[in-house]
Order: sequence, then structure tokens, then C-alpha cells
Amino acid sequence: MYEKHLECRSCGKKIELGMKYTCPVCEGILELKYDYEAMKEDPLLLDDKEHKGMWKYSHVLPVRDKGNIVTLGEGATPLLRCCRLEKEYNMSVSLYLKAESLNPSGSFKDRPSSVGISAAKEYGAKRVVIASSGNASAAAAAYCAGTGMECIVFVPEGTDASKVTQAAAYGAAVIPVAGNYSNSYKMALECSAKYGWPNITSTFLNPYTVEADKTAAYEIWEQLGECMPDYVVIPIASGPLLVGMYKGFQELVHLGIASPESRLPAMIGVQSEQCMPVTKAYLEHTAKVCGWEFPIHTIAGGISDPLIGYEQDGELTLKTALESGGRMSCLSEEEIADAMQQVETKAGLYCEPTSAVAVGAAARLYKEGVIEPGTKVVCMLTGHGFKYSGRKPFVQKVISSIEELPILI
Ligand SMILES: [Zn+2]
Repeated sequence: MYEKHLECRSCGKKIELGMKYTCPVCEGILELKYDYEAMKEDPLLLDDKEHKGMWKYSHVLPVRDKGNIVTLGEGATPLLRCCRLEKEYNMSVSLYLKAESLNPSGSFKDRPSSVGISAAKEYGAKRVVIASSGNASAAAAAYCAGTGMECIVFVPEGTDASKVTQAAAYGAAVIPVAGNYSNSYKMALECSAKYGWPNITSTFLNPYTVEADKTAAYEIWEQLGECMPDYVVIPIASGPLLVGMYKGFQELVHLGIASPESRLPAMIGVQSEQCMPVTKAYLEHTAKVCGWEFPIHTIAGGISDPLIGYEQDGELTLKTALESGGRMSCLSEEEIADAMQQVETKAGLYCEPTSAVAVGAAARLYKEGVIEPGTKVVCMLTGHGFKYSGRKPFVQKVISSIEELPILI
């Protein structure tokens, strides 16, 4: 409600609010800007009494008329400390999992979809288009369902059947596109330009959706007893969650809510070795991200984004991670599978492989001395286990008496 205008992150051009996606001068990424001075005077800035969950932060989100808020009860996800994982990995830290998998459609994408669809409603949309590697398509479809808005979803061929089935179940028109995610991304772009449908692809394309990711940062700060974590570890495709959350932590200080002495967390992005355009740039000490042209074979489908044609998204994520004192990391397929099993058996949180990369990377970076002892580490668990259909089917012999129990007594 305090949003003022859009601003190009590259050249600083100011643009009127609206469903706009790139800078008309330099094609840079747009960011929503707010009237922070007015916000400082708002006693209910982080506590809109009319709403619960994510929308309790409605005063710092870009929706003017609250009647346009489209919600399914997203946000307010648990922040769970997991001592068994700390022990398993010999980590002398407080290791927390932010269970974004418990959002209504089962992933962190419910926050950006709720804001994106609310903004589209505010601008009178009857139909929206989105490109997604899976989770965002299911989320967008879910939020459109309650509004009657039509949802056109482009997914890369070979997207996990669980995610596609879920999006279709909500009534979206799900259209598989040949090739990798970047091809789906381009098709959504073309449709939006040609037909004028709002594009709610939750990379950095839609400046409204990125704002929603701030709310995960506010929640973590509140859940830690009004305290900043030292590290936040996040699975990364293009990286709006990392950039959006860091903006949230910055705003807490800038708006005078958190102490000005607060040390902001180091933001750590994690990719799969099978698709690591941002991590590759980090390892090569360059700010320039190149689209990933190699074949991709990963169980972490949620982060298999080659960024071809929108490399600047990865550059913004890398820049933000470095500014925060963080870095990029990556895991092998074996490490991802192992981390998933650890999260499920030690924390009791069913998760998709993409989610687990944050935990696997935190463990490795602790071992390497990057994450320091005695710190607070938050791993973002981005998607639910129901989203992944690659597990071996469960097979067990049927028994008729306790003498046949297949466990050690
Ligand atoms: Zn510009």
C-alpha cells in the first residue's frame, strides 16, 4: 500500500506502477520502490490485524485495495530447529529448517503467486500466463482457481508428473514446451507481449512477485525472537527468493524495526552440479553469468534453470549473495539424494530433492569452515515431498502374524 513506482535496477529509470516487466531504456530488471518515510509512521506496518499468515504484512506488500488480496492461507510456516541433523552432521550451530513446503500448494512459490495474482486482479486481468519448472505453475493455478482467472502454464517437457498433475487439477491450461526451462520462459514472454496477459513468472520478471519473498525474512526474524540469523541457505534457480529475502532483512533495519546494529545474514545460494550457471560464475570470480548450455540430468528439478536469455537474473542473485557476505555453492546428485534422506529421517519433513540442497550445502560449508560454530543457520525447505515422483515404490512383504515381523525386536 506504500508502493510508489518501479525502478530499473541497472540504470535507475523510474517507471509508473503497472504490469511491467523490464526497463524500457536498457531492458534491466525492475524493482518496486516504497515510501519508506511514510511506512516508518505506520504502527501496524508488520501486523495488519485483518489478516493472518503472509498477509499480516500487507502494509509492506504492493496491493492497494485489500479487496483484491487472493489468499489460501500462505505464510506463517514453521521454523524448526533440528538437533538430530546438527548431531548427524557434527555441526555446533543452531540449525533451523524453514518449512516452506507446508504452504497451501506445497511450496515457497505460494507467496509470490499470492501477491502476483492479487496484483493481476488489481490491474483487471482475466487471464495470466506463467512459465515454471513445476512448483510455481501449481501455485499460480491454485491461486487463480479461487478468482475465476484463467491460468496458462508453460512447463518444460519432462517436468515431474506430480507437479504438472497438480497444476492441471486446479484447472489450469498446462502446456508442455519442448526443451529446457528457458524455452518455456521465452514462450510466456511472447504470449504476454502479443496478447497482453499478465506474466507472473516468478523469476525477476514480475516485480510484484519478488516482493512476496520478503515476508519469509520478516517471519524468520520474528520466529528467532526478533533476531537475525547468521546464515540463510537457499536452493537457487534464478534466485528471487534469495534477493527478495535479503530485501526483507534490509527493510527491517531500514524501517527501524530491527536494531540499526543488527548484522544482516550472509545469504548462501545452492545449485546442483548438473545446472550451476550462477555457482560457476562465483567459482570463476566473475560477475558475468553465462547461460548453462550443458545437458542437465538432476533429481533437483526445481533448480534446473539454465538462465539462457536472462542471465542478468543470475547476476543479480550473485551480486546480492556477495553483498551480504554470502556465496554460491553446489552439490552432486549423490549429495542431494543423501541430504533429502537426512531431512526426512532426522527432521520428519517430507521434501523434494531441490529442498534438501540447502541442508546438504550447510553441512558441507560447516565442514569446510565457511559456516562458523555457534551461529544460527536457516535452511529454506522450498518444496514438499509430494512434488517428487522419482522415488522407488515402497515394497514390503504382507504378514499375517507377529512372528513374521520384519524388524529386529
Ligand atoms: Zn534501465
